[in-house]
Parts: sequence; structure tokens; C-alpha cells
Amino acid sequence: MRAALNRTGALLVTIVTMSGCATAPNPAPSPSTPAPAAVETTNTMNTPEVTVPATPAPVTNPMLAEWTGPYGGVPPFDKIRVEDFKPALEASMAENLAEIDRIANDPAPPNFANTIAALEDAGRTFGRVETIYGIWSSTMNDDAFSAVESEMEPKLAAFYDQITQNEKLFKRIEAVYNSPEKSTLTPEQQRLVWLNYTNFVRSGARLDDASKKRLSEINQELAGYFTKFSQNVLHDEQTGMLVFENESDLAGLPQSLRDSAAAAASSRKMPGKWVITNTRSSVAPFLTYSDRRDLREKAWRMFVDRGDMGGEYDNNKIITEILRLRAERAKLLGYPTHAHWRLENSMAKTPERAMELMEAVWKPAVARVHEEVRDMQQLANKEGAKITIEPWDYRYYAEKVRKAKYDLDQNEVKPYLQLEKLREGMFWVAGQLFNFNFTPVTNVPVYQPDVRVWEVTDKTTGRHVGVWYFDPYARPGKRSGAWMNAYRAQERFNGDVTTIVSNNANFVKGAPGEPVLISWDDARTLFHEFGHALHGLSSNVTYPSVSGTRVVRDYVEFPSQLLEHWVSTPEVLQKFALHYQTGEPIPQALVDRIKKASTFNQGFDTVEYLSSALIDMKMHLAGSTPIDPDKFERETLAELGMPKELVMRHRTPQFLHVFSGDSYSAGYYSYLWSDVLTADAYGAFTEAGGPYDPAVAARLRQNIFSVGNTIDPAEGYRAFRGRDPRVEALMEKRGFSSNNNNAPRQRMTKQ
Ligand SMILES: [Zn+2]
Repeated sequence: MRAALNRTGALLVTIVTMSGCATAPNPAPSPSTPAPAAVETTNTMNTPEVTVPATPAPVTNPMLAEWTGPYGGVPPFDKIRVEDFKPALEASMAENLAEIDRIANDPAPPNFANTIAALEDAGRTFGRVETIYGIWSSTMNDDAFSAVESEMEPKLAAFYDQITQNEKLFKRIEAVYNSPEKSTLTPEQQRLVWLNYTNFVRSGARLDDASKKRLSEINQELAGYFTKFSQNVLHDEQTGMLVFENESDLAGLPQSLRDSAAAAASSRKMPGKWVITNTRSSVAPFLTYSDRRDLREKAWRMFVDRGDMGGEYDNNKIITEILRLRAERAKLLGYPTHAHWRLENSMAKTPERAMELMEAVWKPAVARVHEEVRDMQQLANKEGAKITIEPWDYRYYAEKVRKAKYDLDQNEVKPYLQLEKLREGMFWVAGQLFNFNFTPVTNVPVYQPDVRVWEVTDKTTGRHVGVWYFDPYARPGKRSGAWMNAYRAQERFNGDVTTIVSNNANFVKGAPGEPVLISWDDARTLFHEFGHALHGLSSNVTYPSVSGTRVVRDYVEFPSQLLEHWVSTPEVLQKFALHYQTGEPIPQALVDRIKKASTFNQGFDTVEYLSSALIDMKMHLAGSTPIDPDKFERETLAELGMPKELVMRHRTPQFLHVFSGDSYSAGYYSYLWSDVLTADAYGAFTEAGGPYDPAVAARLRQNIFSVGNTIDPAEGYRAFRGRDPRVEALMEKRGFSSNNNNAPRQRMTKQ
């Protein structure tokens, strides 16, 4: 999830909230994000002032205008030109700073209305511009745009710092925070005051001038490195590819993969050939099906070496610099390490508690990998392959074991998984659980012809709820993975504003008229991102900076991961998992086999993910020791006992979550943390009347999906579940014996 700093800088409203998913295909925060997290302000400081342009940008710049059209206005995607971004950002930053100055210099004594609420209402223009800038950054990132980005990112960092370092403003926030008036405010207002105050403090508002200056220098330097890091990964993904000229190179590949490889070649002006591109959605299926071990190794090396190939686009030195700067910043702010600073306001609160959970799951997961490898090796031996399982063999032999052990062939499942039917399935689930109705609309502009739009209404009352944009296909200039983005947050303190959200993915577009068939994992990802969208759409709060998905990092993946569970409900499968040729629903026998195999390969999935999460945390706990990422990764994995048959899901030189911005740094553990909640929460449904139990669904909406960040997430969870979450459900979901770990009950929310 990419979170941008918000308008007031301070509150951190993530204007652009993108959520990636780790469990399912790969997430990855937006390549070029300013940084802060959902509930953090960027830490920043102020140095070079953002200059007010001498001549104000012409009003003809369409990005500066209010959004017009239906649904309370929609983004003017038909009017966006790359050359307008810089003047629009500069003009709107200047406007925002002027608003901040007015609030800071208000002659009236500070109170909630003239300080905190006023901040909520500041930076509206900047928020709109920044939203569109974020969309271009992640989905329309061509050379012209990336030049804008390289120039603007450090300026944006300085801008955020200028707000959080505004001393008069901070004094007013502090006065409201300490005022007796606070106790007369609503709980949401009180939380907003607390968030503002702690975010400012955490961003350096209390530092002396010299430290503030240094902090801002650090933030700007980091912003430059984050952009470069993302651009390097994007470079390697777009330039690396395997090109095949002979059909024999395709041995083992299913027809759908051959077709998409042929399409990828045609679009690169190599008709008649086949191209495997350097992205997860292309490489992972190749590794799963290719009978050509030599080519699997090539594909694997190409993919795991992204950002790590030496030369101009290598990320290793950038990582060392980012870690050094983060350590220095944490020290300046009074924290032992970057990880301590990042986790302070999270649900986990401390790196130690996050580590404790990761370590508890790590050991049984590694043990499971050894079992999986044993099964694969036996099968390879039986086939007379005369090989030892290597990382480029894992997916291939896992697939064979899956077939042998569970009689389950993913290719047998895929014909039932039509993207568009499953999308209808998600809508149906949203109708059941959230009482939403989705209607396609064509009365709003889109930024790319493949993007489609739906209006969301309440099924019973017809009330307008929001707008949902869907951008499903891979294309050049769009970052890999899947994510959600909030174009506009729900709020009502200054008029009733409904939300606009989007889901973004990288499915390979089919031939015209042909249905797009996706894998089981992709289907889960689809539901995952839709879970983020529903989190946004369900929002029912007063203030925008605590709206929808603007919650703490280790909580935000909970609603999305929870929704993944509904893909495999019999209702969805029978109604929407229909064979693309016959229209027949997926046979129950096949569903039973899918269910039986549900914990299959959990060793691989968990270790692949957790090794990345552990490296992320350990790198950010290392303090100011200079880090050579290559050496650190190798030595730490050896200490952890990383099985040699697999590799981190995101090796450090391509770890966009962690190095393309601050928001997921020391935060990749969040997916596991959220999954503890997810597994435990789904139990509330199964213990009651099943996945569509209306009473449980109502409690879920009331305490989790609609409250945004207006309450402490641990309290919201308790209100939903009647108790704190327990880790056992997670261990069971993944098929690990909970006897193997020493995780205490209720560890998740104890302070
Ligand atoms: Zn997610």
C-alpha cells in the first residue's frame, strides 16, 4: 500500500493509498512515493523551502481545478498531460503552505476547529494533484514522467517537512492536545488530535533548528534514492526477457502461457517468437511448467538478479545509503533504530513483538520446507531425473507433487477461473456481506482504454456509496503486482464526500473476445485487492485523514486478506467458477481436492515471504553499522537456516516495499501480523452460521470495515471478536502444528 503524505503533511492522510498484497502476487509499494505511512507523517524536516513560483501556474492547468462531473466529481483523466505535473504540484504546494501559514498565524487562541479541523480542510488542491501524480507514477510511468518524478520527489519531501517543521503550527496542535477542551470532543476528534500531535512529534517537530535542517536534508536525499531504486527495478523488469525462437524451448508450457508469450513477443515487434518477460506474473508460471531445466535456471536467475546486476542500474549502493540515512534519522528523532521508530504507532508497537511472531512461525515453516523438498526429491528420483532440487526446480516439482499427492492439476482448475466471472463473484460477495450493488458506468473519463468503472450503491436504499475503477492488465510503464488506490477518501465534516477507489493488477490481456483465465492464486489476489477496496468503500467517518484504509500498516492487510477466504466458498464457486467453454460450474470433486490441498506448499510460501520480512526487520535493527546488502543478506539467511532450495520472495536489491519509500520499511512483517487477525476473524464466521452469516458480517462492517482509523485497531478487533486474536488459527490455516511454537495466546494485542 502506498501511502502518501497528506495534505497537511501532518496528518498523514494518505491521499493515495495503495495496497499491495504479499500473500498473493506481489505487492510493492508505489515506486515513487513520498513516503509516509498510513498513519505516520513522514518524518521530515525542512530545509530548502519550496518556492512559490514567481508566476502562478496558469489556471488552465486541468489538474488544479476542482473535480467535476458525476458522483461529486471525478478525476479529469482525459485532460492530463505530463508537462502539467510539475507546475500543478508547485502551485498546489504553494497554496497548501499558504493555508498552513494562515492556520499557524491565526490570532484566535488554538482550538480543535481552528487548528485540527482546519488542517483537515487544508491542501485539497494538492491532494487532488498528488493523487493523479501517484496514478501516473504507478501505472503510466514512461520516460517523460519518470523525469518529472526524479525532479519532484525531493521537492515533495522538502514540502512535507516544511509543514511538519512549522513551529507555530506545532505549538497550536500541542496546545489543543493539552487543552481541557480535548475531553469534550468526540472520540474520533480526540483520536485525530492525538494522531496529529504524535505524528508531528515523530516527524521531528520538537527538534532544534540544526537537527530539523539535517532531518530535512536526509528526507530529501532519501526521496531521491527511493525514486532511483524503483526506476532501476523497473528498468531491469522492462529490459530483461527470455526470447525463444524454437517451439522446443516451450516444452511443458500450457497453451495459455504459450499464447501470452507469443503476444508478449508480438508487442515487442518479434512476431513468431515467444517472450518470457522479467516479471513475477510471467516468470513464476514458466518456472512451474517448463520441462527445460536449463531454461528454468536462466529465467530464475534473470528474475532474482533484478537490481543486482552491477553497473548503472544496480541497487546495492543505494540500499547501503538508504539504511545509513534511516539510521541517522532515527537517532536524530530519539529512537534506537529505524525499526523502533517505524513500529511505535503500529499494532505490534515494538520490533521485538514483531520478531517474536515471525520467529514462532519461522521454525515450523522451515521444517515444512524440508518435508516438501523430501517429497520433491523422491519424485525426481523416481522419474530418474538425476538431479538435486535447486531453487529453479521448486515450483516445477511442487506442481508434480501436487498432482501426485492430491490429484490436483492447476491447469484443470484454470478453465473455470475467468477473470470477468470472478469479478462478478466479488460483486456478489460484496452484496451479501456489505449490501453493495455495482453498476458499470461509462460517463467518466479513464486514463487508459482498458480501465473500467462501476458505481457502487446501497442495495436496499440505492444510496450512492462510491466509485470503483478497475485497471486489470499489465502494460509497459505499469509497475508489477496488484494494489488498491484511494483517489478520494470518504468524509463528512465539511459536506458529505463519497469515496473513489481503484483496484489494479497485472493480468495478461487475452486476445479480443477471449476470456482471460487466471490461476487460483490470481483469483485470491483479485479478492484481496477487492478487500482493500471494500475497506475504503465501507468507510463511515467524519474526517478524511482517518478514513477508509488510512490505518496502521500492520492492520491494513487484515480486511484484504480476510476477503480472500470468500473465493473458495461453495456459493462463489458454484455461481461464478464456470468453465469458459461449457459454462459448467467447477465440479464438486475438484473443489474438494482444492480444499484438501489448501495447506500444500505452505512451507514454500511462508519461508519465501518470512525470509524477506526477517531481512527487512534485521536490516533496520542493525543501527548505524554500515551494511553491505549482499553480504548481510547471505550471512543473515545462513544464520536463520534458510533452506538452500528457495530464495527470498523479494531479494534486497529489488525489495520495492522497503526501498521505494518508507511506508513498508521494517513493515513487511505486517502481512503475517494481519494474517493472524485474518485467520482468527474468519473463525468468527465458521463458528457462527458460515461465511455469509449476516450477524457476523454486520459486526465486521461496524467494527472493522467502516471505522477507518477512528479507534484503536486492537479495540475494534475486540469489539468484533469478543476477545483478542489468537495465533493458533494462523498455524492451522497454514497447516503448521501449533505445538511447535511457543507463541503465547493473545500475544497480538497485549501492550
Ligand atoms: Zn494488500
